[in-house]
Amino acid sequence: MSKQSDITSIVVTKLKEIVPNQDFVALHEPLFRGNEWSYVKECLDTSWVSSVGKYVDLFERKLAEYTGTDYAIAVSNGTAALHAALIVAGVEAGDEVIMPTLSFVATANAAAYIGAVPHFADIEESTLGLDANKLDEHLARITEIRSDGCYNKNTGYRIKAVVPMHTFGHPVDLDPLVEICKHYKLVLVEDAAESMGSFYKGRHTGNWGLLSAVSFNGNKIVTTGGGGAILTNDASLAKQVKHLTTTAKVPHKWEFVHDRIGFNYRMPNLNAALGCAQLEQLPDFIEKKRAVAQVYQQAFAGIEGVVCFKETGFAQSNYWLNALLLHESHASCRDDILGQTNSQGIMTRPAWNPLHTLDMFVNCPSMDLSMAVSVCNRLINIPSSACLGDEYA
Ligand SMILES: *Cc1c(COP(=O)(O)O)cnc(C)c1O
Repeated sequence: MSKQSDITSIVVTKLKEIVPNQDFVALHEPLFRGNEWSYVKECLDTSWVSSVGKYVDLFERKLAEYTGTDYAIAVSNGTAALHAALIVAGVEAGDEVIMPTLSFVATANAAAYIGAVPHFADIEESTLGLDANKLDEHLARITEIRSDGCYNKNTGYRIKAVVPMHTFGHPVDLDPLVEICKHYKLVLVEDAAESMGSFYKGRHTGNWGLLSAVSFNGNKIVTTGGGGAILTNDASLAKQVKHLTTTAKVPHKWEFVHDRIGFNYRMPNLNAALGCAQLEQLPDFIEKKRAVAQVYQQAFAGIEGVVCFKETGFAQSNYWLNALLLHESHASCRDDILGQTNSQGIMTRPAWNPLHTLDMFVNCPSMDLSMAVSVCNRLINIPSSACLGDEYA
Protein backbone atom coordinates (compact mmCIF):
# COMPACT_ATOMS: atom_id res chain seq x y z
CA MET A 1 0.00 0.00 0.00
CA SER A 2 1.16 3.48 -0.85
CA LYS A 3 1.74 5.95 1.92
CA GLN A 4 -1.03 8.49 2.60
CA SER A 5 0.91 11.44 1.21
CA ASP A 6 1.66 9.47 -1.95
CA ILE A 7 -2.00 8.82 -2.67
CA THR A 8 -2.83 12.49 -2.31
CA SER A 9 -0.10 13.61 -4.67
CA ILE A 10 -0.77 10.80 -7.15
CA VAL A 11 -4.47 11.69 -7.35
CA VAL A 12 -3.83 15.42 -7.66
CA THR A 13 -1.13 14.88 -10.31
CA LYS A 14 -3.35 12.53 -12.33
CA LEU A 15 -6.26 14.96 -12.27
CA LYS A 16 -3.99 17.81 -13.41
CA GLU A 17 -2.81 15.67 -16.32
CA ILE A 18 -6.34 14.88 -17.44
CA VAL A 19 -8.31 18.10 -17.05
CA PRO A 20 -7.60 21.07 -19.35
CA ASN A 21 -4.97 23.53 -18.21
CA GLN A 22 -7.39 26.35 -17.27
CA ASP A 23 -7.75 28.69 -14.31
CA PHE A 24 -10.92 26.88 -13.31
CA VAL A 25 -12.37 23.51 -14.24
CA ALA A 26 -15.97 23.00 -13.10
CA LEU A 27 -17.46 19.80 -11.76
CA HIS A 28 -20.17 19.96 -14.38
CA GLU A 29 -21.02 22.76 -16.76
CA PRO A 30 -23.93 22.85 -19.17
CA LEU A 31 -23.32 22.84 -22.91
CA PHE A 32 -25.48 24.92 -25.26
CA ARG A 33 -24.44 23.98 -28.75
CA GLY A 34 -27.75 23.12 -30.37
CA ASN A 35 -31.03 24.92 -31.00
CA GLU A 36 -31.19 26.62 -27.58
CA TRP A 37 -30.99 30.19 -28.90
CA SER A 38 -33.52 29.73 -31.69
CA TYR A 39 -36.10 27.89 -29.59
CA VAL A 40 -35.88 30.34 -26.69
CA LYS A 41 -35.98 33.29 -29.10
CA GLU A 42 -39.14 31.89 -30.64
CA CYS A 43 -40.80 31.93 -27.20
CA LEU A 44 -39.88 35.58 -26.77
CA ASP A 45 -40.91 36.51 -30.31
CA THR A 46 -44.31 34.88 -29.92
CA SER A 47 -44.86 35.87 -26.25
CA TRP A 48 -45.43 32.24 -25.28
CA VAL A 49 -43.10 32.39 -22.30
CA SER A 50 -45.13 30.97 -19.45
CA SER A 51 -46.76 27.74 -18.38
CA VAL A 52 -48.63 27.04 -21.59
CA GLY A 53 -47.01 26.68 -24.98
CA LYS A 54 -45.95 24.31 -27.67
CA TYR A 55 -42.54 23.60 -26.16
CA VAL A 56 -44.02 22.28 -22.92
CA ASP A 57 -46.08 19.77 -24.90
CA LEU A 58 -43.17 18.95 -27.18
CA PHE A 59 -40.76 18.53 -24.26
CA GLU A 60 -43.14 16.17 -22.50
CA ARG A 61 -43.60 14.14 -25.69
CA LYS A 62 -39.87 13.95 -26.37
CA LEU A 63 -39.15 12.98 -22.78
CA ALA A 64 -41.64 10.13 -22.87
CA GLU A 65 -40.22 9.04 -26.20
CA TYR A 66 -36.62 9.08 -25.02
CA THR A 67 -37.24 7.36 -21.70
CA GLY A 68 -39.71 4.87 -23.11
CA THR A 69 -42.35 5.83 -20.57
CA ASP A 70 -45.95 6.37 -21.60
CA TYR A 71 -46.29 9.75 -19.90
CA ALA A 72 -44.03 12.62 -18.88
CA ILE A 73 -45.27 15.69 -17.03
CA ALA A 74 -42.90 18.65 -16.96
CA VAL A 75 -42.70 20.65 -13.73
CA SER A 76 -40.74 23.53 -12.23
CA ASN A 77 -37.96 21.45 -10.63
CA GLY A 78 -36.95 17.98 -9.58
CA THR A 79 -37.95 18.50 -5.95
CA ALA A 80 -41.46 19.45 -7.07
CA ALA A 81 -41.49 16.34 -9.27
CA LEU A 82 -40.63 14.15 -6.27
CA HIS A 83 -43.18 15.92 -4.09
CA ALA A 84 -45.99 15.43 -6.61
CA ALA A 85 -44.95 11.85 -7.37
CA LEU A 86 -45.02 10.89 -3.68
CA ILE A 87 -48.46 12.44 -3.15
CA VAL A 88 -49.92 10.68 -6.18
CA ALA A 89 -48.24 7.43 -5.10
CA GLY A 90 -50.36 7.63 -1.96
CA VAL A 91 -47.83 8.79 0.61
CA GLU A 92 -49.63 10.55 3.45
CA ALA A 93 -48.71 12.47 6.59
CA GLY A 94 -47.28 10.09 9.17
CA ASP A 95 -46.15 7.50 6.64
CA GLU A 96 -42.52 6.45 6.49
CA VAL A 97 -40.67 6.56 3.18
CA ILE A 98 -37.57 4.38 2.68
CA MET A 99 -34.71 6.15 0.93
CA PRO A 100 -30.91 5.94 0.80
CA THR A 101 -29.13 8.15 3.31
CA LEU A 102 -26.69 8.91 0.50
CA SER A 103 -28.78 11.32 -1.54
CA PHE A 104 -29.34 14.99 -2.17
CA VAL A 105 -31.49 16.60 0.52
CA ALA A 106 -34.43 16.98 -1.90
CA THR A 107 -35.30 13.28 -1.60
CA ALA A 108 -35.94 13.64 2.11
CA ASN A 109 -37.45 17.12 1.83
CA ALA A 110 -40.09 15.93 -0.63
CA ALA A 111 -41.30 13.33 1.87
CA ALA A 112 -41.17 15.85 4.71
CA TYR A 113 -43.32 18.37 2.76
CA ILE A 114 -46.14 15.82 2.98
CA GLY A 115 -45.61 15.27 6.69
CA ALA A 116 -44.16 11.86 5.92
CA VAL A 117 -40.97 10.69 7.60
CA PRO A 118 -37.81 9.58 5.78
CA HIS A 119 -36.62 6.14 6.85
CA PHE A 120 -32.97 5.87 5.90
CA ALA A 121 -31.46 2.79 4.31
CA ASP A 122 -27.92 1.75 3.45
CA ILE A 123 -26.26 1.52 0.05
CA GLU A 124 -24.01 -0.99 -1.69
CA GLU A 125 -20.57 0.03 -2.88
CA SER A 126 -21.03 -1.53 -6.32
CA THR A 127 -23.93 0.75 -7.32
CA LEU A 128 -23.78 3.58 -4.73
CA GLY A 129 -27.53 2.98 -4.44
CA LEU A 130 -29.90 1.13 -2.10
CA ASP A 131 -28.69 -2.26 -0.89
CA ALA A 132 -31.70 -4.50 -1.56
CA ASN A 133 -30.45 -7.48 0.48
CA LYS A 134 -29.77 -5.37 3.51
CA LEU A 135 -33.11 -3.61 3.13
CA ASP A 136 -34.94 -6.93 2.88
CA GLU A 137 -33.32 -8.17 6.09
CA HIS A 138 -34.13 -4.93 7.84
CA LEU A 139 -37.78 -4.96 6.76
CA ALA A 140 -38.12 -8.64 7.71
CA ARG A 141 -36.90 -7.73 11.19
CA ILE A 142 -38.86 -4.55 11.88
CA THR A 143 -42.10 -4.73 9.92
CA GLU A 144 -45.48 -6.35 10.20
CA ILE A 145 -47.61 -6.70 7.09
CA ARG A 146 -51.27 -5.93 7.69
CA SER A 147 -54.20 -5.83 5.29
CA ASP A 148 -53.74 -2.08 4.79
CA GLY A 149 -49.98 -2.09 4.36
CA CYS A 150 -46.61 -2.53 5.94
CA TYR A 151 -46.08 -1.27 9.49
CA ASN A 152 -42.88 -0.42 11.32
CA LYS A 153 -43.18 -2.32 14.63
CA ASN A 154 -40.70 0.05 16.28
CA THR A 155 -42.51 3.28 15.46
CA GLY A 156 -46.06 2.08 14.84
CA TYR A 157 -46.21 3.99 11.56
CA ARG A 158 -47.01 2.68 8.11
CA ILE A 159 -44.15 2.35 5.66
CA LYS A 160 -45.62 3.37 2.33
CA ALA A 161 -42.91 3.78 -0.27
CA VAL A 162 -39.34 3.04 -1.30
CA VAL A 163 -37.47 5.77 -3.14
CA PRO A 164 -34.24 4.47 -4.68
CA MET A 165 -31.93 7.06 -6.21
CA HIS A 166 -29.58 6.51 -9.14
CA THR A 167 -26.47 8.08 -7.67
CA PHE A 168 -24.43 10.27 -10.04
CA GLY A 169 -26.36 8.63 -12.89
CA HIS A 170 -25.50 5.04 -11.98
CA PRO A 171 -28.58 2.81 -11.99
CA VAL A 172 -29.36 1.09 -8.73
CA ASP A 173 -30.20 -2.65 -8.89
CA LEU A 174 -33.95 -2.23 -9.46
CA ASP A 175 -35.25 -5.79 -9.90
CA PRO A 176 -34.72 -6.90 -6.28
CA LEU A 177 -36.26 -3.62 -5.09
CA VAL A 178 -39.35 -4.29 -7.20
CA GLU A 179 -39.60 -7.70 -5.49
CA ILE A 180 -39.23 -6.16 -2.04
CA CYS A 181 -41.98 -3.66 -2.81
CA LYS A 182 -44.31 -6.45 -3.93
CA HIS A 183 -43.57 -8.53 -0.86
CA TYR A 184 -43.98 -5.73 1.68
CA LYS A 185 -46.86 -3.91 -0.07
CA LEU A 186 -44.77 -0.83 -0.74
CA VAL A 187 -44.87 1.49 -3.73
CA LEU A 188 -41.69 2.19 -5.69
CA VAL A 189 -40.97 5.78 -6.69
CA GLU A 190 -37.63 6.31 -8.41
CA ASP A 191 -35.60 9.43 -7.73
CA ALA A 192 -34.18 9.51 -11.25
CA ALA A 193 -33.09 13.14 -10.88
CA GLU A 194 -29.53 12.33 -11.95
CA SER A 195 -30.15 9.54 -14.41
CA MET A 196 -31.48 11.00 -17.66
CA GLY A 197 -29.78 8.83 -20.25
CA SER A 198 -29.02 5.94 -17.86
CA PHE A 199 -30.36 2.48 -18.60
CA TYR A 200 -30.94 -0.54 -16.36
CA LYS A 201 -30.91 -3.88 -18.19
CA GLY A 202 -31.46 -2.08 -21.47
CA ARG A 203 -34.40 0.03 -20.37
CA HIS A 204 -34.29 3.66 -19.28
CA THR A 205 -34.32 4.32 -15.53
CA GLY A 206 -37.64 5.67 -14.32
CA ASN A 207 -39.59 2.75 -15.76
CA TRP A 208 -39.57 0.54 -12.66
CA GLY A 209 -41.34 2.79 -10.20
CA LEU A 210 -45.04 3.52 -10.15
CA LEU A 211 -43.79 7.02 -10.87
CA SER A 212 -40.36 8.58 -11.06
CA ALA A 213 -38.88 12.05 -10.79
CA VAL A 214 -36.27 13.68 -13.02
CA SER A 215 -34.43 16.98 -12.56
CA PHE A 216 -33.30 19.47 -15.20
CA ASN A 217 -31.45 21.80 -12.87
CA GLY A 218 -28.44 23.62 -14.30
CA ASN A 219 -26.02 21.02 -12.97
CA LYS A 220 -27.81 17.98 -14.39
CA ILE A 221 -26.95 16.30 -17.70
CA VAL A 222 -29.93 17.91 -19.47
CA THR A 223 -30.92 21.34 -18.22
CA THR A 224 -33.93 23.60 -18.62
CA GLY A 225 -32.36 26.20 -16.31
CA GLY A 226 -34.57 24.88 -13.57
CA GLY A 227 -37.04 22.11 -14.13
CA GLY A 228 -38.13 18.57 -13.55
CA ALA A 229 -40.53 15.93 -14.73
CA ILE A 230 -42.61 13.06 -13.47
CA LEU A 231 -42.50 9.89 -15.55
CA THR A 232 -45.09 7.13 -15.35
CA ASN A 233 -46.59 4.32 -17.39
CA ASP A 234 -49.98 4.67 -15.69
CA ALA A 235 -52.56 6.85 -17.47
CA SER A 236 -54.58 7.57 -14.36
CA LEU A 237 -51.54 8.58 -12.30
CA ALA A 238 -50.32 10.78 -15.15
CA LYS A 239 -53.65 12.57 -15.18
CA GLN A 240 -53.57 13.07 -11.41
CA VAL A 241 -50.01 14.43 -11.53
CA LYS A 242 -50.89 16.90 -14.24
CA HIS A 243 -53.94 18.04 -12.29
CA LEU A 244 -52.10 18.35 -8.98
CA THR A 245 -49.21 20.30 -10.51
CA THR A 246 -51.50 22.75 -12.35
CA THR A 247 -53.29 24.11 -9.27
CA ALA A 248 -55.90 21.32 -9.54
CA LYS A 249 -57.91 23.48 -11.91
CA VAL A 250 -60.92 21.80 -13.42
CA PRO A 251 -60.88 22.52 -17.16
CA HIS A 252 -63.49 25.12 -18.06
CA LYS A 253 -63.66 27.88 -20.67
CA TRP A 254 -63.80 30.69 -18.11
CA GLU A 255 -64.59 29.51 -14.60
CA PHE A 256 -62.01 29.06 -11.87
CA VAL A 257 -62.89 25.81 -10.19
CA HIS A 258 -60.16 24.00 -8.28
CA ASP A 259 -61.13 20.70 -6.69
CA ARG A 260 -58.25 20.18 -4.25
CA ILE A 261 -55.23 22.02 -2.88
CA GLY A 262 -52.96 21.91 -5.88
CA PHE A 263 -49.53 23.23 -6.68
CA ASN A 264 -48.30 25.76 -9.20
CA TYR A 265 -45.53 23.47 -10.39
CA ARG A 266 -45.83 23.84 -14.17
CA MET A 267 -42.69 24.25 -16.24
CA PRO A 268 -42.69 27.53 -18.19
CA ASN A 269 -42.52 27.33 -21.99
CA LEU A 270 -39.20 29.22 -21.97
CA ASN A 271 -37.59 26.48 -19.92
CA ALA A 272 -39.19 23.74 -21.98
CA ALA A 273 -37.78 25.35 -25.15
CA LEU A 274 -34.31 25.09 -23.66
CA GLY A 275 -35.08 21.51 -22.67
CA CYS A 276 -36.13 20.52 -26.19
CA ALA A 277 -32.85 21.79 -27.57
CA GLN A 278 -30.92 20.00 -24.81
CA LEU A 279 -32.69 16.68 -25.30
CA GLU A 280 -31.69 16.69 -28.96
CA GLN A 281 -28.08 16.67 -27.80
CA LEU A 282 -28.40 14.11 -25.02
CA PRO A 283 -26.95 11.20 -27.05
CA ASP A 284 -23.92 13.37 -27.80
CA PHE A 285 -23.59 14.45 -24.14
CA ILE A 286 -23.65 10.81 -23.06
CA GLU A 287 -21.05 9.80 -25.60
CA LYS A 288 -18.77 12.58 -24.35
CA LYS A 289 -19.39 11.81 -20.69
CA ARG A 290 -18.69 8.13 -21.19
CA ALA A 291 -15.46 9.01 -22.99
CA VAL A 292 -14.40 11.19 -20.05
CA ALA A 293 -15.19 8.33 -17.66
CA GLN A 294 -13.08 6.00 -19.77
CA VAL A 295 -10.10 8.34 -19.55
CA TYR A 296 -10.40 8.60 -15.77
CA GLN A 297 -10.77 4.85 -15.41
CA GLN A 298 -7.66 4.17 -17.44
CA ALA A 299 -5.69 6.81 -15.58
CA PHE A 300 -6.56 5.40 -12.17
CA ALA A 301 -6.58 1.72 -13.16
CA GLY A 302 -3.14 0.77 -11.92
CA ILE A 303 -3.14 2.87 -8.78
CA GLU A 304 -3.46 1.11 -5.49
CA GLY A 305 -5.74 2.62 -2.89
CA VAL A 306 -8.12 4.44 -5.23
CA VAL A 307 -10.63 3.44 -7.90
CA CYS A 308 -12.68 5.45 -10.31
CA PHE A 309 -16.29 4.30 -9.96
CA LYS A 310 -17.45 2.11 -12.83
CA GLU A 311 -20.92 0.98 -13.91
CA THR A 312 -21.93 -2.59 -13.04
CA GLY A 313 -22.91 -5.26 -15.57
CA PHE A 314 -26.62 -4.45 -15.69
CA ALA A 315 -26.10 -0.72 -16.06
CA GLN A 316 -25.46 1.66 -18.88
CA SER A 317 -24.72 4.87 -17.07
CA ASN A 318 -24.80 8.47 -18.27
CA TYR A 319 -21.69 9.06 -16.11
CA TRP A 320 -23.17 12.37 -15.04
CA LEU A 321 -20.56 12.78 -12.30
CA ASN A 322 -17.41 10.72 -12.05
CA ALA A 323 -16.35 9.68 -8.59
CA LEU A 324 -13.08 8.51 -7.09
CA LEU A 325 -13.40 6.08 -4.23
CA LEU A 326 -10.45 5.89 -1.88
CA HIS A 327 -9.71 2.65 -0.11
CA GLU A 328 -10.79 2.68 3.55
CA SER A 329 -7.18 2.89 4.64
CA HIS A 330 -6.75 6.13 2.66
CA ALA A 331 -10.02 7.81 3.67
CA SER A 332 -8.00 10.33 5.66
CA CYS A 333 -6.58 11.70 2.37
CA ARG A 334 -9.97 12.83 1.17
CA ASP A 335 -9.81 16.31 2.66
CA ASP A 336 -6.23 16.87 1.48
CA ILE A 337 -7.21 15.94 -2.05
CA LEU A 338 -10.27 18.19 -1.89
CA GLY A 339 -8.18 21.04 -0.51
CA GLN A 340 -5.35 20.77 -3.01
CA THR A 341 -7.52 20.33 -6.11
CA ASN A 342 -9.92 23.14 -5.27
CA SER A 343 -7.10 25.53 -4.43
CA GLN A 344 -5.58 24.75 -7.84
CA GLY A 345 -8.80 25.51 -9.70
CA ILE A 346 -9.90 21.92 -10.20
CA MET A 347 -13.36 21.68 -8.76
CA THR A 348 -13.89 18.53 -6.72
CA ARG A 349 -16.54 17.79 -4.13
CA PRO A 350 -17.23 15.27 -1.39
CA ALA A 351 -20.47 13.28 -1.43
CA TRP A 352 -23.45 14.90 0.28
CA ASN A 353 -23.47 14.68 4.05
CA PRO A 354 -25.56 11.57 4.74
CA LEU A 355 -29.16 12.66 5.21
CA HIS A 356 -29.48 10.98 8.61
CA THR A 357 -26.81 13.34 9.94
CA LEU A 358 -28.68 16.53 9.00
CA ASP A 359 -30.29 18.35 11.94
CA MET A 360 -33.86 18.04 10.68
CA PHE A 361 -33.56 14.33 10.01
CA VAL A 362 -31.40 13.04 12.90
CA ASN A 363 -34.37 11.51 14.68
CA CYS A 364 -35.76 9.70 11.65
CA PRO A 365 -35.87 5.90 11.66
CA SER A 366 -32.99 4.11 9.97
CA MET A 367 -31.09 0.85 9.71
CA ASP A 368 -27.38 0.17 9.97
CA LEU A 369 -25.87 2.73 7.58
CA SER A 370 -22.23 1.76 7.79
CA MET A 371 -21.57 1.40 4.06
CA ALA A 372 -23.10 4.78 3.22
CA VAL A 373 -21.08 6.41 5.98
CA SER A 374 -17.91 4.71 4.82
CA VAL A 375 -18.48 5.67 1.16
CA CYS A 376 -19.23 9.26 2.10
CA ASN A 377 -15.95 9.53 3.94
CA ARG A 378 -13.86 8.43 0.97
CA LEU A 379 -15.71 9.58 -2.15
CA ILE A 380 -14.62 12.52 -4.29
CA ASN A 381 -16.53 13.79 -7.32
CA ILE A 382 -14.23 15.01 -10.07
CA PRO A 383 -14.73 17.30 -13.11
CA SER A 384 -17.16 15.58 -15.49
CA SER A 385 -18.47 18.20 -17.94
CA ALA A 386 -19.38 16.88 -21.37
CA CYS A 387 -17.07 19.51 -22.90
CA LEU A 388 -14.10 17.70 -21.34
CA GLY A 389 -15.00 14.88 -23.72
CA ASP A 390 -14.45 17.02 -26.82
CA GLU A 391 -10.96 15.65 -27.10
CA TYR A 392 -11.85 12.06 -26.30
CA ALA A 393 -15.25 11.21 -27.78
C1 LIG B 1 -30.99 17.44 -8.29
C2 LIG B 1 -31.64 16.42 -7.45
C3 LIG B 1 -32.96 16.54 -6.99
C4 LIG B 1 -33.77 17.77 -7.09
O1 LIG B 1 -33.82 18.42 -8.25
P1 LIG B 1 -34.00 20.02 -8.32
O2 LIG B 1 -34.37 20.20 -9.74
O3 LIG B 1 -32.70 20.62 -7.94
O4 LIG B 1 -35.12 20.38 -7.41
C5 LIG B 1 -33.51 15.50 -6.28
N1 LIG B 1 -32.82 14.38 -6.01
C6 LIG B 1 -31.55 14.23 -6.42
C7 LIG B 1 -30.84 12.98 -6.09
C8 LIG B 1 -30.91 15.24 -7.14
O5 LIG B 1 -29.64 15.09 -7.49
